[in-house]
Amino acid sequence: MEDNCYLCGSTENLTRDHIPPKGFFPPNKRYNLVTVSCCGDCHKVLSLDDEAFRIFTTAQINRSSEGAWIWKNKVMGSSFKRSPKLKENVKKSLIRTNLTDAQGLQHSAITIPVERAEKFLIRLTKGLIVHHRPEINPINKKYKVTMLKPTQDLIDNTLNKFRYAEIGDGVFRYWRAYNNDEEFIYVWVYVFYDGAMFMVEVS
Ligand SMILES: [Zn+2]
Repeated sequence: MEDNCYLCGSTENLTRDHIPPKGFFPPNKRYNLVTVSCCGDCHKVLSLDDEAFRIFTTAQINRSSEGAWIWKNKVMGSSFKRSPKLKENVKKSLIRTNLTDAQGLQHSAITIPVERAEKFLIRLTKGLIVHHRPEINPINKKYKVTMLKPTQDLIDNTLNKFRYAEIGDGVFRYWRAYNNDEEFIYVWVYVFYDGAMFMVEVS
């Protein structure tokens, strides 16, 4: 799949797509970025799915300082200014929660339509499959997305058996598990900004 678009398989008009999108990284954390071949039709710098997912993950209460930076400078400072309609839509999905932080401050949480989160995570997984296993065609695989609660137990007892990597300290961490004969990666676990965790199963 190295010389094919990772989303549609086309060999024409190829460019490079960032996995995750470059706009998820503060400028000083843009190292070890992953890119894969993508055709001009499938390539989008930051799609609506990406934007919704970025808003959702950077709005998390326990986000990293990198997430806080993106929220302040890219979401509030740029996206919302550019599109008042987007801001209104996000406001509508804002829910008050009973969660309080260490200082006792109450926070809001934002919801994201499931299908948008799924689209984003499936696209991301296809890119990572091609990055780690260029010989595998990710297009016709099945993908199942689950949101996880990031607990220490999960990280210490399950994910320590997985292979781990990170892109941009405090932005994106991921784990992957191979099947027994090492032929295929069947589980991916992602953490964005240390606050939002997801699992994608591939079959
Ligand atoms: Zn394509």
